[in-house]
Amino acid sequence: MPLTDIDAARREKMFPRLSPAQMERLAPLGRRLRMERGQIVFEQGAVLPDFFVVLSGTLEIVQLADGKEVPITVHEAGQFTGEANMLTGRRSLVRARMLEPGELLVISSEALRKIVHSDVVVSDVLMRAFILRRLALIAEARGDSILIGSSHSAATLRLREFLTRNGQPHTYFDVDKDPEVQGLLDRFGVRVEDVPVVICRYQKVLKSPSNEEVAECLGMVENLDPAKVHDLIVVGAGPAGLAAAVYGASEGLDVLVLESDSPGGQAAFSSKIENYLGFPTGVSGIDLAGRASSQALKFGAEIAVARTAIRLRCQSPLATVELAGGGSVVGRSLVIATGVQYRKLPLANLSRFEGVGVYYGATPMEAQLCEGDDVLIVGGGNSAGQAAVFLGERARKVRILVRGPGLKETMSRYLIQRIEESRNIKVDARHTVVALEGDGRLERVQIRDEAAGRTEAHAARHLFLMTGASPHTEWLKGCVALDEKGFVKTGPDLGRYDLQGWPLARAPYLLETNIPAVFAVGDVRAGSVKRVASAVGEGSICIQLVHRALAE
Ligand SMILES: Cc1cc2nc3c(=O)[nH]c(=O)nc-3n(C[C@H](O)[C@H](O)[C@H](O)COP(=O)(O)OP(=O)(O)OC[C@H]3O[C@@H](n4cnc5c(N)ncnc54)[C@H](O)[C@@H]3O)c2cc1C
Repeated sequence: MPLTDIDAARREKMFPRLSPAQMERLAPLGRRLRMERGQIVFEQGAVLPDFFVVLSGTLEIVQLADGKEVPITVHEAGQFTGEANMLTGRRSLVRARMLEPGELLVISSEALRKIVHSDVVVSDVLMRAFILRRLALIAEARGDSILIGSSHSAATLRLREFLTRNGQPHTYFDVDKDPEVQGLLDRFGVRVEDVPVVICRYQKVLKSPSNEEVAECLGMVENLDPAKVHDLIVVGAGPAGLAAAVYGASEGLDVLVLESDSPGGQAAFSSKIENYLGFPTGVSGIDLAGRASSQALKFGAEIAVARTAIRLRCQSPLATVELAGGGSVVGRSLVIATGVQYRKLPLANLSRFEGVGVYYGATPMEAQLCEGDDVLIVGGGNSAGQAAVFLGERARKVRILVRGPGLKETMSRYLIQRIEESRNIKVDARHTVVALEGDGRLERVQIRDEAAGRTEAHAARHLFLMTGASPHTEWLKGCVALDEKGFVKTGPDLGRYDLQGWPLARAPYLLETNIPAVFAVGDVRAGSVKRVASAVGEGSICIQLVHRALAE
């Protein structure tokens, strides 16, 4: 449905009219600008320094797609420009031009952020309109970029996930399915072997690009000022980092969040989180991340995506974080929220089945999904053993696949004993998973029996990968104290040896590392509970400790 055809009730929320009282509150914050018929107010692709409210006349919003103008809407007196890009600082996806001459109220993006933060009523109207407009652009695929790829290519999937999870509308063409593709490829002089290809802003062709290259081209990357000293830098925008950003920014701190991929972290890979407080019917990870990011932006936090921290300079009192691709940022305090990376099997289509048959944790939620079904578990460590015993109570049969000769070397004796005593758990040594199959969800797993040298198809709707998780802490090595598995040690977990260079009279706070004012929260922290709720909890409570450290 074109944006111009949406129903009246939704249109009213997407393109609301500010009341005279609201207009009066905005008037002193901007300047009046007289515009003539046909004058361009801003161009598609521009990074917008200003927000515009129509005082008189009409302002038409159009989108240039492949050289043609597509109408989006016409703003009348009391209506305003902008969508989520007003808060993220991303390039405009539309062009604005005066249809009838009139006057505009021009408000700087900085003043706009203050209004959104301080005027609850106006903030509600603007935030709702901005989010609904971006959602409509996404739903209509009304971006200014095209992705040409193949559903059989992992790089295509990576780019689709990156654009989707970052809320960047785009049009996708599949070389294997779409008849229009050949024409597009010819028009932009691209060979089919070059896919995935991103045609960025209908101009630049990027062949098999990295996420960073796409982000740069689409203007998703913030220009970070290396001289600015932020109150707080949060590294990682998973549930823990986003919670720290929301609480930090809402309590007046100047917060910069660095995220190497897209907001949401591992949670964004969960199609339905059912154990998070307040969502009785569950919430998708992407939805939760989208809401949390908007909330952080509303309170004034800056979220820089496609920005990877590669090193923490080991110095105090200021924390300097070096970034991939050059440059650095400085903060008076730092929250490490870089989470973990579950070890993944090298299977081309693995991510297609994550959350729809492939799981990394065995909680009561997953156990419920497996009720009465057969379950496959990959791994020979204690986590695999615990999962097998736990899932064995609900599943029909549990089969543990181990690459090595057995469990003796890798699993605790008590778990092996319980597995041996169980009627429905079987261990297959020297067995590996070589392929996953299914339409929409996992249906079959190809398993290789290394000893027999044969591969068999096993009907399976549930595959648990319990091959361990490694924390994203490479960038902290040599500076922040880590445990033997590489997780960040904090508070009471820090030993005398870890605190040899500790310069203060007080002991480290609960979530504080061996470096003053540097905190660690969520999955990356040694001993943390690997759950969304606990990550959010730690991200929020650490802000109180950040305040204390900043006051010292
Ligand atoms: C498929 C799946 C389903 C799950 N389902 C549930 C569930 O239903 N319920 C539940 O409670 N838990 C669930 N979990 C666990 C839950 O998602 C995690 O416990 C939670 O996301 C941890 O949050 P976090 O913020 O600590 O870390 P993460 O979510 O791991 O986020 C860390 C972020 O840091 C970024 N990052 C890493 N290194 C850098 C760097 N150097 N520079 C910049 N950024 C960096 C990453 O890109 C990532 O976005 C699930 C996990 C998975 C994988």
